[in-house]
Amino acid sequence: MARYTGARCKLCRREGIKLYLKGDRCYTNKCAFERRSYAPGQHGQVRKKVSEYGLQLRAKQKARRIYGVMERQFRNYFYEAARQPGVTGENLLRLLERRLDNVVFRLGLADSRAQARQLVTHGHFKVNGRKVNIPSYLVKVGDEITVREKSKNSVLIKSLIDKAKEKTHPAWLEYDAEQAKGGVISLPTRDQIDVDVEEHLIVELYSK
Ligand code: SF4
Repeated sequence: MARYTGARCKLCRREGIKLYLKGDRCYTNKCAFERRSYAPGQHGQVRKKVSEYGLQLRAKQKARRIYGVMERQFRNYFYEAARQPGVTGENLLRLLERRLDNVVFRLGLADSRAQARQLVTHGHFKVNGRKVNIPSYLVKVGDEITVREKSKNSVLIKSLIDKAKEKTHPAWLEYDAEQAKGGVISLPTRDQIDVDVEEHLIVELYSK
């Protein structure tokens, strides 16, 4: 399973925005973007005129990086979004939000999507009572996401469950902090997806 293993802070600096890829560190003054808010590399501080294609490319890369999805899978999400009725850009973001690793992150049970992805891969979660270790698994309305009983003994999982009690979650999800159990009430609408991405630029890019 392919995933990006390079320096994550460089991705924020390239996109010119904090993507919050490193969990707690992103909220401290250790954040690389706070210290060097320009693109990485020798010419990172050179101001360049960005073409229309460049804007579209950056929008797509930003979305990919936020959700930790590789190029081919991202393109497949786009094709699936284009097949669905409604606005393609919104459909695309909705599909990305429905990924199990994203849902675990949104429920507050992980500090970042990367951590959520690892926890899912290690089999710490169940969907409707069955273990699911596929980060790209798409949840649907009515699904119940629980932490495996065995995993609740882990020090890391215990601390994440404790932290989750203090966190908020989006309105399309519900969370029972006592039982560490989440549910999908509805599919997210665009205003419930707080990612700073201009999805229409992604649609334009792939529609060429
Ligand atoms: Fe981005 Fe977080 Fe690194 Fe800051 S600490 S640059 S928000 S990944």
